[in-house]
This record gives sequence, structure tokens and C-alpha cells, in this order.
Amino acid sequence: AKEIHQILDEKPIVNQWQLKHWQWIATYYMCSIGEVFRAALPSTLLLESETILSAKQEIVVDDLSLSDDEFLIFEALQHQSSLKINDVIAILNKKNVFPIIQKLIDKNILLLQEEIQEVYKPKLVRYIRIHQNYASNEALSDLLNVIKAKKQSELLLGFFQLQAVERKPISVKQLLEFTSVSSAVLKVLIDKAIFEEYHLIEDRTDFKTDAMDSELILSEAQQKALLEIKKQLTQKDICLLHGVTSSGKTEIYSKLIQESLDTGKQILFLLPEIALTTQLLSRLRKFFGNKVAVFHSKYSNNERVEVWNQVLENSPKAQVVIGARSAMFLPFSNLGLVIVDEEHEQNFKQVDPAPRYHARDAVTVLANFHQAKVVLGSATPSLETYYNTQNNKYGLVELFERYNNVPMPEILLVDLKDKYFRKRMNGHFSDTLLEEITNALSLGEQVILFQNRRGYAPLLECITCGHVPQCPNCDVSLTYHKFKNQLRCHYCGHSIAKPTNCHQCSSVDLITKGFGTEQIELELATLFPNKKIQRMDQDTTRGKFGYEKIIDKFQNREVDILVGTQMLAKGLDFDNVSLVGILNADNMLYFPDFRAFERSYQMMSQVSGRAGRSEKKGKVVIQTYNPNHNTIQQVTHTDYKGMYKEQLYERQIFKYPPFYKLVKITLRHKDFEKVKESSIWLYQVLSQHLQMPVLGPEEPAISKIRNEYIRTIMIKIPETVSPQQTKKTIQKILNSFDVIVQYRSVKLVVNVDVT
Ligand code: ADP
Ligand code: ZN
Ligand code: ZN
Repeated sequence: AKEIHQILDEKPIVNQWQLKHWQWIATYYMCSIGEVFRAALPSTLLLESETILSAKQEIVVDDLSLSDDEFLIFEALQHQSSLKINDVIAILNKKNVFPIIQKLIDKNILLLQEEIQEVYKPKLVRYIRIHQNYASNEALSDLLNVIKAKKQSELLLGFFQLQAVERKPISVKQLLEFTSVSSAVLKVLIDKAIFEEYHLIEDRTDFKTDAMDSELILSEAQQKALLEIKKQLTQKDICLLHGVTSSGKTEIYSKLIQESLDTGKQILFLLPEIALTTQLLSRLRKFFGNKVAVFHSKYSNNERVEVWNQVLENSPKAQVVIGARSAMFLPFSNLGLVIVDEEHEQNFKQVDPAPRYHARDAVTVLANFHQAKVVLGSATPSLETYYNTQNNKYGLVELFERYNNVPMPEILLVDLKDKYFRKRMNGHFSDTLLEEITNALSLGEQVILFQNRRGYAPLLECITCGHVPQCPNCDVSLTYHKFKNQLRCHYCGHSIAKPTNCHQCSSVDLITKGFGTEQIELELATLFPNKKIQRMDQDTTRGKFGYEKIIDKFQNREVDILVGTQMLAKGLDFDNVSLVGILNADNMLYFPDFRAFERSYQMMSQVSGRAGRSEKKGKVVIQTYNPNHNTIQQVTHTDYKGMYKEQLYERQIFKYPPFYKLVKITLRHKDFEKVKESSIWLYQVLSQHLQMPVLGPEEPAISKIRNEYIRTIMIKIPETVSPQQTKKTIQKILNSFDVIVQYRSVKLVVNVDVT
């Protein structure tokens, strides 16, 4: 037995279900358990260790065996009992201090220790009370006679007034605000031992709830869907609610949550991205008030620890947890219901770093450990989920009518190939779209315009020699941003001022090709000079409340036209938008990805769904070179099943999910030859050992990012083969790759269930 050095936690901070789940994630997504731990635990829950140096032995100050640097360290230790590495760096003004420290250790002068520190800091709030010397009423009335200074007696009287109405502890802040007396006066009274200050720990995540909605009454169709979901869940663990946009899915979830709450269970509500869903959040808070906790990556570490502890203690404050994908790592012990809203969203899949998990899929495993039920919801379900309803693994409930019987929007297609339309284009606006915008604005209604590309133009081209400026670090052309007059790489952030001459031939004839949200915003400013136009994309929504500010402004009708990227497609509910315009449907359709048509369908349907959500029927204008494209026709006719059947057929013949599981291996290195050679080696070994399609090694469309060359290998695991067994084989091969000395510096990334 050894001595206990330090007790890290008084009670466990993770539970058995988490450990089992995390192990499953590591195995399924082919990463280390440590990587899962790192993603799962708020870093302040882990204890930080710090290296501490202290002097071991007395030495004579004029010891000649010490170098100057060594002497400086030693001297500092005469004044301070210990030093941290950063202190040493500051003292010596050198970056690499370790060799010097090592020498002192070798000379038996220094001692090195690891000190473990707690990093979570509770939030302490200052409170004030009357000192116990004045506990009796007599003492108190004496006191009031003794205090002569005007400000001091104001403060005392203010305190008593507050105490009379509040009947709860009075904070320093509250008292000073109430009395408008300065904190210096308060300090005098504390020094005189009339007031006494004390501290209470406060939750950072506490929030003020709006008035609770008294009663939520479902429409007949919603009620029917609710009953159907409950029925399905008696036979199956997972049920898909396929409800068109604005059918009122949130209200159905709310009823399900309420029933689960009544049985005392915990509820997890996953959203693709919290920042974009403040609206939904405030709606759920209205129903469930202070039983709702929120958890997401924009929270500080301290905030996350607090939610973590509330869930761990099964506290009523966190009985319902709303969060982005990482919320599934919380220490639930009594999970009854999991809701995954907008289940089709790509954002549920973590791309980087490992674990590269898909929260929608991974959370069903956790739910299973708890015997909790799962409801997935979407107007445009992912092919995988819908397939699972068709083969009876999941239940399916459909809701095809909008709440309040608002009709689905009318969709107008503008054929950009058509000469008639083309002649009448004004910038990137067809006359149909312009007319509809003008109409909507004249009725005081708002407009949303969608262009899935930010910046002004994706390329700048020299018309004399055809040169297009490229990123020096990545294999992509630079995007032109007009407001900053910059060319910028969207992969590594590299930027340069816009050149006036071609770098290749010095010509000044540089033109832009293609268009992004910035260009649309500028065109609108000339077309509608008196209207307020706002852009919403990655460039305008930086900062903690970037999205919220824009959404609030639009909601309060301070903006007439909102132009944005796919951020617009996410679950927003505006009551005054009658028109949605999609400026160019084609760049989505022809994106080189096996999901391009499915994604285009989802994106266009979701954006269109923002039109006409309350009472009024909305309109959607889609500009495209391919109005007869099946996907566009399917969007126009809200024909989800048509899209599903067509895509499923293609997935089957081209060997893609849901029929095959995809495992993608990416190799990266600064040395072109090394990537090439190592990827060929890996490909050959994989295809020798796996009886299934192995594709590659492929040079991806963007073959260099941040100065690293990239090759990919794709493994397609058929439904009939055990994925576990296959992954084991792959892992063995990757391990043997890792021990080849000349390949050791090649970075390997394994991505299971590529999206
Ligand atoms: P979805 O999530 O299916 O797109 P929402 O839940 O956002 O639809 O509902 C659309 C709109 O209808 C919202 O403004 C919502 O407040 C309103 N709504 C839906 N159901 C009800 C109900 N039962 N009572 C009152 N308002 C409702
Ligand atoms: Zn040129
Ligand atoms: Zn770059």
C-alpha cells in the first residue's frame, strides 16, 4: 500500500453509464478513450498539475560552479520558497529554460515537484447583513440614534426597507443600487462593525425566466401526432416525427417533455447549434422555467462545470437539458427522454478533433443504456433515419399540415438559362424576384434572401492572361471581400490586400467571378436605397451574441431584407416574412458530394419554410439554370418521398449509406512525396485484407490545406459485414503503419460515418 498523496474528488464526477458510453464511442468512432474524455469533460473538472521548483540544499552564494543563469535561479529561490516554470522564463528572459533547470537538478540543488491545482472557481457574491452585536431590537434603535452622517443613515434605512420587502439575503450590489450611496460609505459601516459582509456561492447559469405560458393547447393534428408518437414508443425505442416546417413540432416535444418530467426523469434536448436557436430556447423556457439548463461550447468552463454538477446531482434545476452535441456527455443517471430536433443537420457530426462522433447516432446508444426513449424530429429527415423507419427499426409519425392551417409557400422557379429572363436580369436579380421583393416590402412584410457563399466573389480573374490568385498555403483560389478590400482564404485565413495589377502579367483588367452574400448586399443597397438590409454569415456573426443580435433586429422589424448563408435555414421562426429568395440553387446541387442532392433538398425546403409562417401564405422564388432538375421539382412539390426514393436508389447502386458504412482515412504531410508513397502503401495493405470496396488513394478536390498535402482512402463496409470486425482489422493495419519509421510523421485521421 502506498500513502494517499491527495484526494482528487470527494465523490465520483462521472458515472457508469458515461464510462460505458464513452468506451462505445472510442470503439465505434475509432479513437482513443482519452480523446473521448477530453471532449466529454469540461477542462476545469480535470485538475491541472503544475511543475514547481524549490531549492533542495543550501549552497554558498559564491559557489563558482554555477553559471550566471543557474545563479539567477538560485538567487530567486532565496527570496521565494518555490518557482513555477513561467517564473523561471521571466527571470532568465529565455524561452527554453529546461536544460538549465536540468543542470541544477543534476547538481542536486533543485527539486522538481508536480503540484495539483483545482481550477474550477465558484462564483462568490457579496452579501450584507447587520452585525450580530445589533441583533436585538434595542441595540438596533440605539444604533439608528448613534448614526449621524446622512449617507450612512440612508444606507441603513435603505437596508431595512429592502429587508422588509425582500425577505431574502440582500446583496451589496442590490443595496448600493437601491440607495445610490457609494461603496465607500458602506465600507465605513463595515469597519465600524455595524454591517457585516459575507459571501454566498451563486450559479453562473441561473437566468431570469419570462412569465410561464400557462397552458399549451395542441391543435387536433398535433394531438393526433402526439398520441401516435406515444403509441409507437410503446413498441420501439426511437420514433421519427416527420413534420413539415411550421407544423408545430416544438409544441409536441413540449408535451412529451412535460410527461417525462412528471415521472421524475431527466430529459435531454439536442439541437444542431445553440447560438442559432435562442428563439426555441426562450420558448422552451417559457414552458419549463427553472427546470431547464443549457449546455454548449460557448459557455465558459466554469459555467459548464456548474451544469455538469447539477446533472450529476440530478438537481431539478437541470431536469431538462438543452444543448448542442456535447451535452450528451453530461452525467445523466436517470435519463427518460431524448429529443433530437432538426436531426438531419450536418452539425451533429463532429469533424475535428476526435472523437468524430455523430451526436444523433451516439445518443441513441446512451438512451439505450438508460432505457430512455428517443424522438427525432425534422421537416426533411436524413436518408439514414428515414430508411430506419422504412425497415421498421424506428417508428414514424407524420404531420403534414402547418399549425393554424397556414398553407405551404408557393414556389416560383426562374430559369436563368431562358433568354427572356436573362435579358431582364438586374445584377443577380431576375425581374420576377425584384417584383416580388418590391411587393412584399410595400406591404410592410420582410424578405429573406439566401446565397450559400460568403464574401463578394469566390474568385478574381485577370482577363488578359487568365491568372486567378491562389492561397499560398492551400490549393484554393482566394475569395474577394469587398468591404475590407481583401482577398482571403476560407481554409487557412490567409489574406492579402486586393491587388490592382495581375501578379503574372501586370494587367489591370481584373474581374470577379461568381458571387457571395456581400455582393448581394451591395446590389440590394442600390436597388432598394431606402430599405434596411442586413447580412448574416460567418463574417457578420462573430462574437458571443453575434447571431442573436441580428435575429433580434430582424424579429423587431428593424431590418427589411436579411441576406445570408445556410445559417438562415436553421429553425428560425419569424412571423412577418412573406418572401424567400434563393439566388442560385445550382452551386449547392453540383457540390461534389454524394449527399449534394439530399442536402440541397433539405437546405432549399428549410429556407423556404421561413416564408409565411403565421396566417399569410408565403412565396419562394428559386433562381436556377436547372428548373427541371428532379431535386428542384421535389422541393417545389414538397415531395420528400420522391427525393427519398430517388436518392436511396442511387445510394444503393453507387454503394453509399445507408447501405454501406463509410470509413474515410485522411493522410497529411508537408512532403508531397511522403503522402503519396505512404497512402499507396496503406491502400494496398487495406485492400489486401478487406473483402469490400476500398477506394483511393485519392487526391481530394482541395489537395493542400495549410501547406499540408492530402490524400484520402475510403472504405465501404457493406451492411452484410460486421462493422466491428472490419474496424478491428483497419485498426491493426493503422497500427502497423504507425511503426514504419519513414511514415511516422504522416498525420492520419480516421473518420467513421463520413457526412
Ligand atoms: P416547427 O418546429 O414544426 O417548424 P413550430 O413549433 O416552430 O414549428 O411552430 C410554428 C409556429 O406555430 C410557432 O410560431 C408556434 O408558436 C406556433 N404554434 C404551433 N403550435 C402551437 C400551439 N399548439 N399553440 C399555439 N401556437 C402554436
Ligand atoms: Zn494577368
Ligand atoms: Zn489557405
